[in-house]
Amino acid sequence: MTRRALVTGGAGFIGSHVADLLLATGYEVSVVDDLSSGKREQVPEGASFHELSISSDGAAALVRESRFDVLYHLAAQIDVRKSVVDPRYDARVNIDGTLNLLEAIRCAGAGTRFVFSSTGGAVYGDLAEPPTAEDAPKNPQSPYGTAKLSVEYYLGYYARIHGVEAVTLRYANVYGPRQDPHGEAGVVSIFCNKILDEKSLIVYGDGRQTRDYVYVGDVARANLLAADVALPPLDGLDSRSFNIGTSVETDVLELARLIGDVAGRRPDVQHAAARPGEQRRSAVQIARAERGMGWRPQTTLVEGLRRTFEWFSGLREGRNA
Ligand code: NAD
Repeated sequence: MTRRALVTGGAGFIGSHVADLLLATGYEVSVVDDLSSGKREQVPEGASFHELSISSDGAAALVRESRFDVLYHLAAQIDVRKSVVDPRYDARVNIDGTLNLLEAIRCAGAGTRFVFSSTGGAVYGDLAEPPTAEDAPKNPQSPYGTAKLSVEYYLGYYARIHGVEAVTLRYANVYGPRQDPHGEAGVVSIFCNKILDEKSLIVYGDGRQTRDYVYVGDVARANLLAADVALPPLDGLDSRSFNIGTSVETDVLELARLIGDVAGRRPDVQHAAARPGEQRRSAVQIARAERGMGWRPQTTLVEGLRRTFEWFSGLREGRNA
C-alpha cells in the first residue's frame, strides 16, 4: 500500500528536499507551510500543498483526519537572532505550533510516526569537546535552542504516556541547493552568492571557528530512514535522538578556500569583529545513526560544495527553480 507522509516546512530548504525524496521513493506526499520563509515553487509537483500555519486549526484537522503514516516536522522559526529578539514568537511557532501537531496525532490515536528536526549546534552548547555525542550535557544558549530541546522533552512525554512514535534528528550545519542566502544561517550559500557577485567574503573574528557541514541530500535520506528505524526502548531524553552530521570540523577560512576552489576563483576575504557569544567549535558524533539507522553521510564536503555552487550559478542563469 502507498505510504502517506506529511512534510511541514516542505516549501523550505531541507523540507523541500525531504518531499522530493519521498515522492521519488513512492510516497504520497502532503506539504503544510505558511510560506513565511519558504517558497511555493520549492514544493515539488506531485505533492499536495496546504498553505497553513502549523499553529492553525486547519493543520490540526488535516493531521487528525488524514492519519498520515509519517509526519516530518521541519516547519520552524529558524533564526537564532530573531529568537533572541522575540522569544515569545519563537516559542509560539517552535513549541506551541509543534504541540498543535502532536495533540492532533494523539487525538487520532497516535498512529502517525513523528520525525522531528532538532539541532545539534544549538542544543549542546560548548560544554563537551566536539564531536559531541547524543548523551552529552545540553546547554542551549538561545531561545531557539531552548525551544528545540523543550520539544524533545515533550516527545518523551507523548511517547511514554500516549504511545506516539517519535524520532528526533539533531542536525549539524546543513548546506546545499535552495538554502536561503539572506538568512542568518547558511554561510555556504552566503559565500557562494558573494563569489558570484564578485564581492568580498566577510569572516567574523579570526575565521578559525569550526562547524560540521552536512549535505542536504544526506539529511533528507536520514529523514526517510527515521520513518522505519526500530525504536530503542525509552530511556531518558536522548534514547530516540540521532545526530546527523559528519563529525568533521571545518573552519570558516578553510570553507572559504574550498568554495573558492570549486568556483575556480580566489575569493577576497575581509575580517570583521568577532560576534559576541559565538561558539568556537561544533561537530557531532554520528556512531549512533550509523548503528541504529544504517545512515552515514555519502557526500564529501567538496562534492557538496560543488553541487551547491553550481546550483546557485544555475539559478542566476534561470536553470533552477
Ligand atoms: P527553512 O526556513 O528553509 O524552512 C522552514 C520552513 O518552515 C519554511 O518553508 C517556512 O515557511 C516554514 N514555516 C515557518 N513557520 C511556519 C509555521 N508557523 N507554519 C507553517 N510553516 C512554517 O529552514 P530549514 O533550514 O530548511 O530548516 C528546516 C528545519 O531544520 C527547521 O526545523 C530547523 O530548525 C531545522 N534545522 C536546520 C538546520 C540548518 O542547518 N539549516 C540545522 C539544524 C536544524
